[in-house]
Amino acid sequence: MPKPMVNRKVNPPSNSKPIVEVGSEMSRDDCIFCKMVVGQIPITKIYEDQVVLAFLDIGPISDGHTLVIPKQHFEKLHDCPSEILGQVCSRLGKIAKAVTKAMNSEGYNVLCNNGRIAGQLVEHLHFHIIARNSGDGVFNRWPAYKYEDGKIDAIAAKIRKNL
Ligand code: 5GP
Ligand code: ZN
Repeated sequence: MPKPMVNRKVNPPSNSKPIVEVGSEMSRDDCIFCKMVVGQIPITKIYEDQVVLAFLDIGPISDGHTLVIPKQHFEKLHDCPSEILGQVCSRLGKIAKAVTKAMNSEGYNVLCNNGRIAGQLVEHLHFHIIARNSGDGVFNRWPAYKYEDGKIDAIAAKIRKNL
């Protein structure tokens, strides 16, 4: 069951108009990322605008590991309205480029865990930006396999039916 929402104002970056107004239901009382948005939990900020907040992950898997979150509370990717999701995603490239350049890395992963089984510990939508270098050992296991005959079409049909 979703937890009840609370009314709270989200602090905008100075000299900009807030997108979250007083009295709106866009923030969760029990969410650490919402608390970061309103300044109740300290962060090492990388970037902020009206829509997103980006900060360094406190438990990095590589130097510069950055989290990019919408300021509004959505639990999973598919809970986020497409317009806001588009705005969040439109910031990822710029931030990823900065992380990669600053860390002098050869590449990066953008990762979004959804659901506890997929490794989502914080139930506020977020994108990890993880700088990568050869031999870093990150994501060493990628358990790829091949479909049995006919299975790929059956699975695709099943997914399309759920769109
Ligand atoms: P998830 O596993 O939900 O995809 O990722 C949550 C991330 O949030 C983890 O990588 C974790 O290290 C990070 N995190 C959890 N608590 C804090 C915190 O208080 N401050 C910061 N900066 N990151 C946090
Ligand atoms: Zn939240």
